[in-house]
Formats: sequence, structure tokens, C-alpha cells
Amino acid sequence: MRIPIIAGNWKMHKTAAESVEFVESIKDQVKGTDVEVVICAPYTLIHSVKEAIQGTNIKLAAQNMHWEDQGAYTGEVSPIMLKELGVEYCIIGHSERRQYFNETDETVNKKVLAALKHNIKPIVCVGETLEQRENGETDALVKAQVVKAFAGVPAERVAEIVIAYEPIWAIGTGKTATAEQANEVIYNIREVIRDLYGEEIYTEIRIQYGGSVKPSNIEEIMNQEDIDGALVGGASLKPDDFVGLVNF
Ligand code: PGA
Repeated sequence: MRIPIIAGNWKMHKTAAESVEFVESIKDQVKGTDVEVVICAPYTLIHSVKEAIQGTNIKLAAQNMHWEDQGAYTGEVSPIMLKELGVEYCIIGHSERRQYFNETDETVNKKVLAALKHNIKPIVCVGETLEQRENGETDALVKAQVVKAFAGVPAERVAEIVIAYEPIWAIGTGKTATAEQANEVIYNIREVIRDLYGEEIYTEIRIQYGGSVKPSNIEEIMNQEDIDGALVGGASLKPDDFVGLVNF
């Protein structure tokens, strides 16, 4: 049985005081859920969120990391630093990082391997642009992203990884892929994992959908057979919406 995972990606939002207020206002309302609840905080909020979630069922994620343990990489943060702060998950290869910060499939792969080395669970993002979808390239593109992200990942570590399928045209645009469209790509991603790792493992890996998920469409998305959760940007910033997503 795969435990569904709802992760709120705050992106570059909130102050420390706002982050604590947010956790305080949701913690009692999400505690009865069977869903794994994750907050992906900017680096500056990791400490305050960590303190605020003590004794709750909310888990902590970062939004990015470098692949080296340490070194002369001004402005970067290493997996060791995140681990020390109690980070359990880390988003890797979000489309905004691929688009604006030159992340490539190669750096995504390095980060995935580094995260696993330090026992941080990667949330690996893949997804196509509108143009790629219209050209019928979605499956091949997403497959290539998954294959490259997983290069060198041993079979016994695969279940620690979460894949987030996020069509770029649906992120922050208000356009959601239909639940069926999302499920179709996610089904294909699971097939890719089957080709790479075989029958036993491919049923264990969790695959989320992301892109304009909100309380009004979460149920339809979660009802799909192959979708194991959501990675949520905009709607994760408001306590009521986030609670609505977790208790869909
Ligand atoms: P959105 O963002 O929910 O605001 O579309 C999703 C994401 O970027 O993870």
C-alpha cells in the first residue's frame, strides 16, 4: 500500500513569523489524516518550521540542495546542512529551477544520488511544456527525465524517492491537467520504473501530480488509480486551503 503524500511547496514565500503562524493554525486540523503531510520551506524558514512542527505529523522538506557535501559554492546549501536541520525530504529538479537556474537532467541526477547518500528523500519533478505536449512529446520527454534522474540509483533505494509529475503549463496558471491526463502520464512513469527496476519495486514508488491543485480539484485527482498525492504551490500558502487538500 502506498501512503498518499500531500506536499506544500511554499516557493519564495513567507517570513519566519508567518511560517510559525501557519503551522500553528493547521496542526490540529491535519493530525487525524492517513496522508503524509509535508511542508517544503525556503531555507530561511527551515529552522522555524522544524520547531513549530515538533510533536505533529507534519514533515519538513527543502526545495533544493547542492550535490556536494561542502566546498567553494557561494550561495549553495549542502545535503549535510539540510540533514543537520532535520530535513526529511527535498524537492529536486522543480521546473522553475530547470527553467530559471539552469538545472539539467545531469544535475538533477547528481542531487538525487547525493540526497539518498545523506538519507534525504528526493521529490523529483518531471514534466513537459505546452509546446512539447502539443507536439506529442510528453511521454518520451518525461521518460527521458525519469531515466536520467534515476541513473545509478540502486533498486533498494527506489521506494524512498517520490516522483512529482508537473506539466509546466499547469503550474501557477490555473490550468490543471484533467485527472485522466495526469493519471495517464503517471501510469507511464510507473511503467518506466518497471522497465528499470522490475515488478516488485514499481508498485512501491509514489508518484504525485502537481500543477494548480486546489481544494476543489484534489478529490478527483486523488481518486485516480496511479496518483499518490500532490505537490502544491499556490494553494499551500493559505492554511484553510492546505487543510482542505490534506483532508480531501
Ligand atoms: P501550483 O505550483 O500549485 O501553484 O501550480 C505547483 C508547483 O510548482 O509545485
